Amino acid sequence: MQEHHFYCPHCHAGNVVIIDAKAKSKEIVADCDICAHPVLLNYNFDPNKRIEFTADFAANQLTLA
Ligand SMILES: [Zn+2]
Repeated sequence: MQEHHFYCPHCHAGNVVIIDAKAKSKEIVADCDICAHPVLLNYNFDPNKRIEFTADFAANQLTLA
């Protein structure tokens, strides 16, 4: 497990999520601690165990803009 920081795409507040390093690739939705909007998190681990991480609007939020 490792902590990873991301910025909420809705309010740009810093958030922390706990990532399970044993998972090879995951897509999860986390609620922003500040504005409570759902944030879609995609992460992958390369062979060197480096994390590739993106935070974006959750799919169900895209139509609300
Ligand atoms: Zn937010």
